[in-house]
Amino acid sequence: KSGFVAIIGRPNVGKSTFMNHVIGQKIAIMSDKAQTTRNKIQGVFTDQNKQIVFIDTPGIHKPKHKLGDFMVKIAENTLNEVDTILFMINADEGYGRGGDQYIMDRLQSIHKPVFLVINKIDLVHPDQLLPLITQYKDKYPFEEIVPISALEGNNVNRLMELITEHL
Ligand code: GDP
Ligand code: MG
Repeated sequence: KSGFVAIIGRPNVGKSTFMNHVIGQKIAIMSDKAQTTRNKIQGVFTDQNKQIVFIDTPGIHKPKHKLGDFMVKIAENTLNEVDTILFMINADEGYGRGGDQYIMDRLQSIHKPVFLVINKIDLVHPDQLLPLITQYKDKYPFEEIVPISALEGNNVNRLMELITEHL
């Protein structure tokens, strides 16, 4: 099996960390500064039965300046080229961040399977997860909802299985 997967989400949710964990190389620049990843960065995951190209996008957000506008365009073009979209959010931040609704509005017109990836579960109590899942579920028909810790690697294998099932 093979396919293309885009990772989108607001800056700092952990897109580059996830990609580096999966690919196992420092190919995407990780930083706690917003917008470090200025261009599309691709990484290929391969094993015996699959080859998955991950595309780490600059965060989609309401553009505030020319360069921001350019980066948003790169991210949106990417979505039209892939098979599956991982929409990553931060478990540590509740629903209602303006940027997330903006991204989900953009996703409505793409018509591709979207996984909600709730990252940084190492930072929250398990009881906090269910309400967050319920809130997001009401807002968008996600194909899958998968809590992970990209930093510690929790549940990342499960996410990889689900991605593979949808290719
Ligand atoms: P991006 O802007 O979405 O690419 O986010 P980065 O991958 O650059 O990560 C932003 C910050 O969040 C970095 O300081 C990461 O170490 C941190 N981070 C990413 N994933 C996790 C996680 O699962 N748990 C915790 N505690 N921190 C994380
Ligand atoms: Mg990044």
